Amino acid sequence: MSHLCSAKRKERMAKKKHIQANYRRQKRLEAIIRKTAPVRETAPGTSSNKMFIFKSELDYISRCILDYKNIETGGQLFGYWTESGIPVVVYAIGPGPGANHQATFFNQDVRYLLNVGNELKSRYGLHHIGEWHSHHQLGLARPSGHDTRTMITTIREKGLGRFILCIGNCDATSTTLNGFLCDENTCTENEWDIIFSESPMRKEIDRALNNILVHPSTRIPRHRDRRLNSDRGDVPVYANGYWLNDRSNRLTLNSIVGFIKEKNYGSEVRIQLNGKGEVVISIESGRHSETILFPIGFPDEPPIIRHYSSGLLMGETSSNWLHFPGDILSSFIRFYETA
Ligand SMILES: [Zn+2]
Repeated sequence: MSHLCSAKRKERMAKKKHIQANYRRQKRLEAIIRKTAPVRETAPGTSSNKMFIFKSELDYISRCILDYKNIETGGQLFGYWTESGIPVVVYAIGPGPGANHQATFFNQDVRYLLNVGNELKSRYGLHHIGEWHSHHQLGLARPSGHDTRTMITTIREKGLGRFILCIGNCDATSTTLNGFLCDENTCTENEWDIIFSESPMRKEIDRALNNILVHPSTRIPRHRDRRLNSDRGDVPVYANGYWLNDRSNRLTLNSIVGFIKEKNYGSEVRIQLNGKGEVVISIESGRHSETILFPIGFPDEPPIIRHYSSGLLMGETSSNWLHFPGDILSSFIRFYETA
């Protein structure tokens, strides 16, 4: 009996020690967490003045806005909220095929949004965290009263906490995108924190959702903020299957341009991309100018040379290319010399 009692006492002692040790460990753990866990700049659901977006997504929206310079367009932003309540825009979409574009309002193609949104969520864990639409050249660079009211009502009804609303604007050649963070009461303008690189998800999603995504037809983004138009950020988007998608061909184009500059010493030589994603080299000298177009089918199809005088088309050459014999540079030189 006494043996049993002492066993029980021992057990109780052990338990007490165990609890005390646990308690000490617990205290230490709290200290560790306090040291290692990220400081909450703001609790989720309260306002923070940071908003991250990848440069590639600003470029994508710029191209979408330039598709509709005189009418509204729009789309959605996908990404996530950080632990401290900061939104990170990882992927942006533009208008779906059934979207309604009007001078003073825009309605997204809901089926398109649901299709893409579901895929982005289930395959990549990306959430719908914001909206954007363009007030094109209306001169209103912030949400209209109607925009703000609609957003606030939606946030309240759906219990979203916070949501991004972006307003785009443009002139004939460039775009802006102002970001606002909205909550249940108001929308506040925030500066973008731009991550100057391509979103790690852009290529993968474009490829995987190729058969449901609709992309802007404008190839080159153009921002009013010149910092965003650096050579590096301004990588042209060539047409599918175009010869310049190949790096060695881009080097060949450099050689071609070098050759043309030499041949037209003193003239201004520029490389441009037309709306179809084809390269046009223009050579200007006084009233005379010349353009060399490399069509989608190049090098199987010949380049087209056009001569202008005071802006009027004087003639066109695309003969002498015959059959593309293999070496683009030497073929081009022969073609140009005999044109
Ligand atoms: Zn609006």
